[in-house]
Amino acid sequence: MKLFNTLTRTKDEFKTIEPGKVKMYACGPTVYNYFHLGNARPFVTFDTLRRYLEYRGYEVEFCQNFTDIDDKMIKRANEEGVTVKDIAERYIKEYYVDADGLNCKRPTYQPRATESIGAIIGIVKALYDQGIAYVIEGDGVYYDVTKKEDYGKLSHYNLDELNAGGGERKASYEGKKNPGDFAIWKFKKEGEPSWNSPWGEGRPGWHIECSAMIKKHLGNTIDIHGGGQDLIFPHHENEIAQSESANGCTLANYWVHNAFVNVDGEKMSKSLGNFFTIRDIVKHFPYEVIRFFILSGHYRMPINFSDELLKASQTGLQRIATCAANLKFNIESDAYNGDDASASEAVKAAAQEAHDSFVAHMDDDLNTADAITDIYTLVKAANTAIDNKASKEALQVALDMLNEITGVLGIVLKVEEDIPAEITELVEQRAAAKKAKDFAEADRIRDLITSKGYSVKDTPNGPQVEKL
Ligand SMILES: [Zn+2]
Repeated sequence: MKLFNTLTRTKDEFKTIEPGKVKMYACGPTVYNYFHLGNARPFVTFDTLRRYLEYRGYEVEFCQNFTDIDDKMIKRANEEGVTVKDIAERYIKEYYVDADGLNCKRPTYQPRATESIGAIIGIVKALYDQGIAYVIEGDGVYYDVTKKEDYGKLSHYNLDELNAGGGERKASYEGKKNPGDFAIWKFKKEGEPSWNSPWGEGRPGWHIECSAMIKKHLGNTIDIHGGGQDLIFPHHENEIAQSESANGCTLANYWVHNAFVNVDGEKMSKSLGNFFTIRDIVKHFPYEVIRFFILSGHYRMPINFSDELLKASQTGLQRIATCAANLKFNIESDAYNGDDASASEAVKAAAQEAHDSFVAHMDDDLNTADAITDIYTLVKAANTAIDNKASKEALQVALDMLNEITGVLGIVLKVEEDIPAEITELVEQRAAAKKAKDFAEADRIRDLITSKGYSVKDTPNGPQVEKL
């Protein structure tokens, strides 16, 4: 398998540190609000990467954190007159509603920053003791970026450029040795939650949280570190600096970053105010459509959010779900008696080809966009197989493959809404009328079914009902 590695800026062959095992970390949400579609993209992307690695036989240890202490959390708590912990508890609960809805498997570890203070202080101490970190009185403990020779290796920024800065930038970096230095421990301000440390009461900086949780749960060097591309600098660059300086070894071998979700050509973000929460979108489109929409684009390409594109995803997903339902219907139907040998051969071959092509596309830097095309190709072959009377056994092969590869993507195949009992009843009445050769009555009932928003189609294998 190949993965595009931000460190090398090339698609690199994926090799694990330990054979058959993958240690993977992705930066999780700051839990001060519902998450929006732009936030959801990395959750779905790295869940899919994890699922695919497991499909390829790897044992994956996946850690995704909760940032439950930072400026936004404190601001929100103060606004509402509740504790930071109250805010965290509420939005972690809400996170799970949406993440479960999007069919993101629960990570192996989901630590909270506030439960990792010991590990955080451990790294700050290692940096301080080596003279890599220094104290600014009344402010905090800072990391000196000039102490790491290859600082900037991930973002490909040059340290001199970073440190040059403009006048405005310099002014905001009062007291630091270099403009690029960043806080790893922030001293307590009035009304803020704090913890004891050898340098004084305070709370961790954001970057150090991830470094600590990685070390605590996965170790000093991991295989894959993921996140949105907006985290490359400074967040991931600083994670690398802290961890590698403290541990004396590489933090992660592969750095994988997903592109943004755009709205009218601009990045969807809370700060721009052009965001749509998953909780809002799900009022109009089910979770499985949102996941399918996210996976319809390659993770390194921006995707545009629009109603039309979500509708197109919904139609596409329904085509796949309907095909799976039709296969199942015919396999279970006593009336279906397909036995055409060449149709059977053809669909079995199509299933194998879909599998091979799917794997090739996913192996090529997790190309879910083309992998979904493979699913459509199989759907077309399966629909033809039913028309051409392939055997039930062959239809089962197609159905199993369809379930297998959609399952790897975490795509749920649900034919929209169950058919209500009232409609099923009418369908039966109509069948009885037809049997009694009362075609006028049969037509009347069909019109009635249509007026209620359903279509009934006579197939050689019995009537099939669909929502219009
Ligand atoms: Zn992080």
